[in-house]
Amino acid sequence: MAPRIIILGRQGAGKGTQCARLVAEHGIVHVSTGDMLRAAVAAGTELGKQAEAIMSSGGLVSDEIMNGIVAERLAESDISENGVLLDGFPRTTVQAETLEQIFADQGVELTAVINIDVPLEEVTERMMARGRDDDTKEAIEERLRNYEAQTAPLLDFYAERNKLVVIDGLGNEDTVFARVQGALAL
Ligand code: AMP
Repeated sequence: MAPRIIILGRQGAGKGTQCARLVAEHGIVHVSTGDMLRAAVAAGTELGKQAEAIMSSGGLVSDEIMNGIVAERLAESDISENGVLLDGFPRTTVQAETLEQIFADQGVELTAVINIDVPLEEVTERMMARGRDDDTKEAIEERLRNYEAQTAPLLDFYAERNKLVVIDGLGNEDTVFARVQGALAL
């Protein structure tokens, strides 16, 4: 069956880099909810208008909106054919439960959840060094706080379901990718 993988990790853990490599290597479809929202903001859609202020403050867009966007995307045939790498979703327990229901309705299984583990102090330094427009100190801190409060509980959620693989995210991108590949064995 086509793989269905979730990638978790704090902002600045290197998820983007590892996703690009996984997609190149395995031909799975990358679904980044952050990219989808940024595209909506750039296009000036209704969704984009609603999401813009929330995103720049480091907050989370509502579960209802996110679940709707992802359910629609997961129904497309490129994903049933090639599998999916979910990046940035789920971010809350409500989203994880919704995703579980979507997969159950589709009769498919979650393959694995990869957590790229980089300590809080290290990601904070990386984020400050990156200097992206939406990376104000306040927004970075708010995103990291949200991650600990809302997304870190998903580690237990998936560990209980025997789906969680924790990858040491310290080291260069080749080293980390070798660990990811070793853990996935696709
Ligand atoms: P990312 O590129 O994944 O860091 O996402 C950028 C921003 O988009 C986040 O800081 C949130 O404001 C919003 N966002 C992306 N994915 C989600 C999600 N699954 N739930 C809520 N908000 C999200």
